[in-house]
Amino acid sequence: MSKQYYDFAILGGGAAGLSMLCHLHRQGALEGKRLLIVEPLAKNSHDRTWSFWEREAGPFEELVYHRWTSIGVHNYDSDANYVLAPLSYKLIRSSELYAYCDDLIASLTNVERIQERAEDIKALDDGVTFKAGGKNYTANWAFNSLPHPVDYRKIKEPYLDQHFRGWFIRSEFPVFNPDHAHLMDFRTPQRGETRFFYVLPVSPTEAMVEIAVFSNNHLTSQEYDQEIENYLVDQWPQLDKYEVYHTEQGVIPMTTYQYPSQEGHLIYIGLGGGYARPSSGYTFYNLQKRLGSMAESFATNSLPGKVKAWPRRHLLYDATILDLLQGGRLEGAEIFPNLFASNPTERVLDFLNGETSLREEIRLMSTTRISAFGTAFLRQLMNG
Ligand SMILES: Cc1cc2nc3c(=O)[nH]c(=O)nc-3n(C[C@H](O)[C@H](O)[C@H](O)COP(=O)(O)OP(=O)(O)OC[C@H]3O[C@@H](n4cnc5c(N)ncnc54)[C@H](O)[C@@H]3O)c2cc1C
Repeated sequence: MSKQYYDFAILGGGAAGLSMLCHLHRQGALEGKRLLIVEPLAKNSHDRTWSFWEREAGPFEELVYHRWTSIGVHNYDSDANYVLAPLSYKLIRSSELYAYCDDLIASLTNVERIQERAEDIKALDDGVTFKAGGKNYTANWAFNSLPHPVDYRKIKEPYLDQHFRGWFIRSEFPVFNPDHAHLMDFRTPQRGETRFFYVLPVSPTEAMVEIAVFSNNHLTSQEYDQEIENYLVDQWPQLDKYEVYHTEQGVIPMTTYQYPSQEGHLIYIGLGGGYARPSSGYTFYNLQKRLGSMAESFATNSLPGKVKAWPRRHLLYDATILDLLQGGRLEGAEIFPNLFASNPTERVLDFLNGETSLREEIRLMSTTRISAFGTAFLRQLMNG
C-alpha cells in the first residue's frame, strides 16, 4: 500500500484542529506546503457554544455572536455584579466557526479533508504515520486533537469532570438584559458537589441557561433538565412562558494531570493536550493563544518549543483548588464568589486565563480561606 505524504496533518477537526488550520494559514506557514485534516464527523452544527473573555479583538472576532460588558456572580449570601472593561465576555457558536473553516478549506488548493477516523498514530524521529479509511499516511508534522482518555481513579492528580447541559430558551416577554451575563449563579442545591448556572442572554427574550457540575458523578439528561427547570422557577419567576429551541451537553476534564504535549513531530493540542483550565474548564482563549504562537514558529521555520498548556505556578494553584473541591473541604459556592468579591474583576479573570504575575497571584490567594487553602497548597507542593 503506497503512503500519502503531507507536510502537516491535523487529526481531529474540531475547535483545536480547525483553529490550528486558520492560524497556520494566516501566519503564512502553509505556503508551498500540503495539509490534510482527518475528521470522522461532518462538522456543521451548533454542537458547542464557546464563551471566553479577552481585552483585544480575537482571531475570530468577526464570528462573535454576542458580547457582554458586565457579569454577575451569585450565591445565597451575595448578589454581585461586575463591570468587565477593559475586558469583554464573548460568545462564538461552533456552527459559525465550522462554516468559516469550510469556506477556507474550499478556497485552498493545498488543503484536503477526509471524513475518516485517524488510527494507529505513530511518532517517528522525523515525522508521523497514521492510518485513515484503510490508507497509510505520513506527515512531517501532525497536530493531534483526539480525546486523551484519563482514568481519574488511576492518577495521583486531583480530577473532576465539569459536566453540563444547557437550554437555549426563547421567552414570550422580554426578561433578559443582553449586556449582562450571569457567569456563576450558585443559587441551586449543591448536593455535596459544586453546581452553578450560567445565564447568557443574547437578546431581551433569548438566553442560554446552563447547569455546570464539578464532580465525577454524571447526571442523566432528565436529571439536568429537572435542575434547570427548578432553577428557572426559583430564580427567574418573571420568566413565565418560554420554549427550549436548542440544547447542548458535554464534559470537560478538570485536572492538573500532565497530558502529553509532544512526541517528536507529533504535537498534542486542544483538550487532549491539557488546554482546559483545570480549575474552571475554560479552554477556548488559551487554545487560540497557544496555537497562534505555535503557528508563528512554523511560519518562521523556528521549531516550536514544547508548548506548556499552562504555566507551572497555575497548575499548582489549580491542583490546590481542585483538591479542596474534590475533598469537600471548601465549596465552589464559597471560593469563586469570594475571589470575585475580594479582588479586582480584571485580576480574577486574568488569573483564570493564566496571565497574572506572582505578586497578583499572592494577593488573590490571600483572599481565600487561608487555613484550608494553605494546607492544601502545601500538600500539592509536596506531591509535585
Ligand atoms: C458542549 C461544550 C461547550 C463548551 N463550552 C466552552 C466555553 O464556553 N468556553 C471554553 O473556553 N471552553 C468550552 N468548552 C471546552 C472546549 O473549548 C471545547 O471542548 C473545544 O471544542 C475543545 O476543542 P478540541 O479540538 O480539543 O475538541 P473537539 O472540538 O471536541 O474536537 C475534537 C475532534 O476530534 C474528532 N475525533 C475524535 N476521534 C477521532 C479520530 N480517531 N480521528 C479523527 N478525529 C477524531 C472529534 O470528532 C472532534 O471533532 C466546551 C466544551 C463542550 C463539549
